[in-house]
Amino acid sequence: MTPRHPTIAEIDLTAFRHNLRLVRQRIGPRCALLAVVKANAYGHGMIPISKAALSETVQGLGVAFVEEGLQLRRAGVTQPILVMAGFLPEETEALLEYGLTPVISHPDQLDWLRQKTEITTRPVGIHVKIDTGMGRLGLLEKEIAPFIERARASKRIEILGLMSHFADDDLTDRPSVEDQLARFENARKVIEAMEIKIPLLHMANSAAILGLERAWFDMVRPGIMLYGYPPSSQSSAAISLRPVMTLKTRIIHLKRVPAGTSISYGRTFTTRRESLIAVLPIGYADGYSRAWSNRGQVLIGGRRAPVVGRVCMDMTMVDVTDIPTVRLNDEAVLIGSQGPETLSADELARQLGTIPYEILCAVSHRVPRLYREGAVPS
Ligand SMILES: *Cc1c(COP(=O)(O)O)cnc(C)c1O
Repeated sequence: MTPRHPTIAEIDLTAFRHNLRLVRQRIGPRCALLAVVKANAYGHGMIPISKAALSETVQGLGVAFVEEGLQLRRAGVTQPILVMAGFLPEETEALLEYGLTPVISHPDQLDWLRQKTEITTRPVGIHVKIDTGMGRLGLLEKEIAPFIERARASKRIEILGLMSHFADDDLTDRPSVEDQLARFENARKVIEAMEIKIPLLHMANSAAILGLERAWFDMVRPGIMLYGYPPSSQSSAAISLRPVMTLKTRIIHLKRVPAGTSISYGRTFTTRRESLIAVLPIGYADGYSRAWSNRGQVLIGGRRAPVVGRVCMDMTMVDVTDIPTVRLNDEAVLIGSQGPETLSADELARQLGTIPYEILCAVSHRVPRLYREGAVPS
């Protein structure tokens, strides 16, 4: 048996499928579902997550960059892949060659595509993005009609979708949400007035899937909820999402030290009593933030143990004096559940002043992902 690195991110594919089915139940059978798997599937591993998604009822995958789309194609994915964060001229050829579907926000991108359409015999499908208030990608209102004229001039380019993205993270700012919806409807009208029929309208991320049925249109684009977390703590709606990732490691060293012993770089922690200190082989290079220094907690023996001293690149120390049963080699959970206790990415995010997305995406490439799949409870 090959020795396994003690730190692993356990990925529960059954939980992932459960979350995906919750989305499907919610939106019904007619609305298309694009599973968002960008950023290594929010840290969960893009290829295995995509394969799990595609064995359920999804109509495509969403990535940020061309490179991510290429990885999926090389892994044998044949379904539609939407490249949502734009592309550069030198990526155009690969985009077409691999049959990826670009989201377009700038007329120059049409020209790049047009110059390369000979690469493929298929029509080149695109989704057009409208900036309805995010202030990031997308055409502004006045740019829409000229853009459509230009797209229409090329017989090989086919507009498959019209999309936009919400700026408000939990959609509680109703006036802003209404304004974005109105701008999106207006974009649709402008385009339909030019006698162009767009098959797929889409705008809904997880927040809108949970809280704004009017934004579902023809397709939804869930990301974070597939990984088991609501987009913000406020939106933890009555839907039973199951966290997919458990980040765990094992105690690699255990020592009893006298009172007055300083722990880790900078001597920022000194024991006040005789203490049992466990060393964990995980650090900021694994995505366990240095911000947890003297602040974080990990689960050992089903209880919370405090991080003491600075988190190092490869190691973190915890005070386990109050957990009498602890032994060398015992499991420590940094994200997830152990026994009766849970450290959710949601709670960790609140403590660090960030969002669960960042906590999950931070788990670095050094951490092996271990995939588990059990029976799916119906
Ligand atoms: C990341 C992303 C999503 C998914 O958002 P969640 O909040 O994770 O559901 C949807 N649409 C676009 C354009 C995105 O970039």
